[in-house]
Parts: sequence; structure tokens; C-alpha cells
Amino acid sequence: MAKKELEPAVSLDLSGEGEALLGDDERRGPPRRTHADLSGVDFQDMVAEILRRLGDDPQREGLLGTPERVEKTLRYLTQGYALSSEQVVGDALFAESHSNMILVKDIEMYSMCEHHLLPFFGKVHVAYIPDGQIMGLSKIARLVDVYARRLQVQERLTEQIAQSLWDTIRPQGVAVVVEAYHLCIMMRGVQKQNSKTITSAMRGTFLEDHRTRDEFLRLTTSVHQPL
Ligand code: ZN
Repeated sequence: MAKKELEPAVSLDLSGEGEALLGDDERRGPPRRTHADLSGVDFQDMVAEILRRLGDDPQREGLLGTPERVEKTLRYLTQGYALSSEQVVGDALFAESHSNMILVKDIEMYSMCEHHLLPFFGKVHVAYIPDGQIMGLSKIARLVDVYARRLQVQERLTEQIAQSLWDTIRPQGVAVVVEAYHLCIMMRGVQKQNSKTITSAMRGTFLEDHRTRDEFLRLTTSVHQPL
């Protein structure tokens, strides 16, 4: 197959030398830098350039469709930016007078770490105690996706799920636990293959009443019994 040089959509210096370092008084955290304006460059051309920088040839057969697939995949994995909890929940709230704990366990979650653009994934457990209304169960899983399908850190994801349930259902209490494996920890650096990160966020009665909190934690950490 004849090799053809990829014509960049816009002629721009992508060598990185145009980037300036700022904030030299900051010793903590990465230095802030401004980046060249690449807003006119096609997404897939940028992916092809990354492949080239990594030392591969974006024109070889196995990589020809990669920029397009990467764009589609990244847009899919970050579709939560275009969604809000109000949109997802819609009118799926129902009047209900009981005030027993509702627990949805083992909701699958896939997200992307904002520091390394690598996946983190695991399970979300959500509980709430209604105060006059309940939400359709399937909506809870969709709410998780609104926040998981973005560039995230696990702590913020946990908080956002809890806060959106708190605002949407207006329950007496809400509790969220996220257990996840982070590929940026597992695949690089320390390579701690089995370390799992667990985060929690609580509101209302789950904070105020230790018996409610204990019941939730007992139910979420109990060994799963097959149905
Ligand atoms: Zn990371």
C-alpha cells in the first residue's frame, strides 16, 4: 500500500515549543502552562499526531481507523458533560409515604481519571430514605452515568452522585459508596494490582444517625448472596 503523508488541516507548529511556563512561584503542584491554540485543528489529526509522537506510524494499516475510533470513544466516555440530573430523572419521581431505606447495590461504573486519562471502574452503592417521594430505580443507575461519563476523580464523583440525589429526591438522607480500581495505579508506577479505592458521601440521617449509617454499611459490605 502506498504511503501518503497526512496533510494537516491547518498548518500549525505542534512541536510544543510554543508553550510557555507560568507561575514560577508555585513549588507545589505541576507548573501552569499555556498551550498553543489548536482549536482549529481537527480532533482526529491531533490523535494521529499523538500516535506519531509516541513513535508509531499513523499511516500503517492497523492505525488507519484509530483516530476516528479514539474520537468516537472519548466522546462516548465523556457524554456526561452534555447531560444533567434533571434531564435524566425527568418526571420519574413518585409520591410514597414510607420511610424505609432504599438501597441499590452494585451499580456498574466506568469513568476516566482526569489526571492520566485512564479508566477507573468498579461499583456504586446508593441508599436513601425517602421523605414523601421515591425515584424510579433505573434512574439511579443513569444518574451515576451522568457524573461517571466525564473526566473525574473518584472523590468528586461520589460527592456529585450524593448531592444530585439529595437535590432531586429531597430525601431524609442519602448515602453513596464507590469502590473502584484505577488503571493509572495498576498499570504504572507502583503497580499495586489489587488495591481498591473506597469513597463515601452521606447527607441527612446517614450523617446524624449512626444506626442508619451502620445498617447501610453492613448491607453494602456484606458478602453477596446470589439471587
Ligand atoms: Zn489517574
